[in-house]
Amino acid sequence: MHLETNIVRGADYFEPRTGALAAPIYQSASFRHPGLGESTGFDYSRVCNPTRGVVERAMALMEGGKWALAFATGMGAISAMVKVFAPGDHIIVSEDLYGGSYRLLHDYYANYGFLFSFVDTSDFSKIVGATRPETKAIFIETPSNPMMKVSDIRRCAEYIHTRGGLLVTDNTFCTPYFQNPLRLGSDFVIHSGTKYLAGHNDTLSGFIVHSNEDYGEKLLDIQKSEGASLSPFDAFLTLRGIKTLALRMERHQANAERVAQWLRAQPQVEKVFYTGFPDHPQYELSQRQARGHNGMVSFYVKDAGDVATLLKRLKLILFAESLGGVESLITYPLVQTHSAIPESMRLSAGVNERLVRLSIGIEHPDDLIADLAQAMTG
Ligand SMILES: *Cc1c(COP(=O)(O)O)cnc(C)c1O
Repeated sequence: MHLETNIVRGADYFEPRTGALAAPIYQSASFRHPGLGESTGFDYSRVCNPTRGVVERAMALMEGGKWALAFATGMGAISAMVKVFAPGDHIIVSEDLYGGSYRLLHDYYANYGFLFSFVDTSDFSKIVGATRPETKAIFIETPSNPMMKVSDIRRCAEYIHTRGGLLVTDNTFCTPYFQNPLRLGSDFVIHSGTKYLAGHNDTLSGFIVHSNEDYGEKLLDIQKSEGASLSPFDAFLTLRGIKTLALRMERHQANAERVAQWLRAQPQVEKVFYTGFPDHPQYELSQRQARGHNGMVSFYVKDAGDVATLLKRLKLILFAESLGGVESLITYPLVQTHSAIPESMRLSAGVNERLVRLSIGIEHPDDLIADLAQAMTG
């Protein structure tokens, strides 16, 4: 089947017992065993739940993986992923990444003996330079958040595989509609399902997708032990969102392109970061490894004093954290998503007081541009 069909229909098509088209919400913590040594395949919902199973199979299908594990949040998925490794292991991580991921790795896992190097993974020489004998993995976010840098998935995979390590790719920004890291050699794919996948700013979820026989059992055991499994209702909402992913991503992409072009022509704007610009530094690479661009556009205003006015005056574009939903949002990474990142690292990544990030929704692009225009010119 084509990707669009898999996105709408998932792996299950309908529920076999009743024929229900929408996945029933199995809001049950526990499941009766028919007898000693017998099971329906379900016993306790932290471990396994029928509704969660439907979204897991849909995610595996879309990403071209054998298995998917669904978590309560993207952070739950990342936390489980790190536990595949052991204290003393070294992991090279994109320096320009979701602030919460940095906080989890740097403020928490580093205290338990995990070693991290945060580098610009869009520059391959920086990965080579950071490699140590104990390097066990590379963790990339591509495109990155909020600077839209693109890392070479295939090259990272080949490099770390020659050293016996693993590649983990956070594919939240592109979604499986535009990019499939497993097909490019990544061992694991991470998603915050909260963003484009669920797509409506109404639920949180997270995923790990993979085809790795060696770590499959371990990941299931980590999920079962940690307990950050996706709830049946949130699995239902995520599934419902996913059905329109292809349509939404096309519209996000078209709208973002319009807005990015417009922003670029504004005198108050110094620079626009958007992976769809042919003069983006990794445009060729994007064209090779992804099938499109998402709805994310960041930009520097010339005068930092303009940021507060912009955030206050925008009416349609909401000043709020998060991304990937149908509503357009504006974020100020310095104080929101990236506040946990130390100043020197933030600045070296380019996250300064003049940077704002837009998550372009699926409204009419003219209305979005008009809103930006009134907010910028007053
Ligand atoms: C939001 C986000 C996360 C964290 O996901 P939650 O669902 O908020 O826990 C991880 N990675 C990226 C790229 C994100 O945008």
